[in-house]
Amino acid sequence: MLLATALWPEVEAYLRDRTDIIVPIGSTEQHGPTGLIGTDYLCADAVARRLGELTGAYVTPPIAIGQAQHHMGFAGTITLRPSTLTAVVRDVVESLTRHGFTRIWFVNGHGGNIATVNAAFAEIYAERSLGAASNTAGTLCQMVNWWEAPAVTALAAELYGQDEGQHATCSEVAMTYHLFPERAAVARPLEPRRAPAYSGIHDAEDYRRRYPDGRIGSDPSQVTAEQGARLLETAAQGFVAPYRAFVTG
Ligand SMILES: [Zn+2]
Repeated sequence: MLLATALWPEVEAYLRDRTDIIVPIGSTEQHGPTGLIGTDYLCADAVARRLGELTGAYVTPPIAIGQAQHHMGFAGTITLRPSTLTAVVRDVVESLTRHGFTRIWFVNGHGGNIATVNAAFAEIYAERSLGAASNTAGTLCQMVNWWEAPAVTALAAELYGQDEGQHATCSEVAMTYHLFPERAAVARPLEPRRAPAYSGIHDAEDYRRRYPDGRIGSDPSQVTAEQGARLLETAAQGFVAPYRAFVTG
């Protein structure tokens, strides 16, 4: 169920029965010459929505802009500073907490968010641990990366082998072609076929020097929308049990 199309009395009624909610988080950043700029949040949002259908949970609008300073050498990328993203995550969690949500599960689509979002969770917990309200039950947060969902890693390995790569991966590009089939027409042979392997990242200039077309280690030229549909369903199905364990644990 989408929070965006819910009515407040419906949310209030939901909170009488259960207090869990799913938050998709991604990034708005270049994904090589054939990958959509919104890939990371579009994939996280799609997996979260499907998981919401499978579990009956509310899904918030996505946090669509993340920590992507290293992609700023490519047109169209938008980034938040780590401190800004921390503040965004804290405010989203505190808003939900005020209404009574106590189990907040982030579905992430961007590796660059991981350290910052976990730091935000630590800030939220520290606030409570250091405050007068400590030793009371509080909101718990957890983040999962959709590409690490049970069975997804194996499926990606089966479909793409070494061509999966680390950025503008075959899996995420395939999922966006499933979501936006009209954009799949941008798929074309890439040169070099497989992008340079990961060798570290510092700032935006360093990134573009090491990975000139934006991809890292991937060759998404052969991916299909049908593969993307399989990956999406596999990710969402794989998260049902971990989500339920988080909510009841
Ligand atoms: Zn990505």
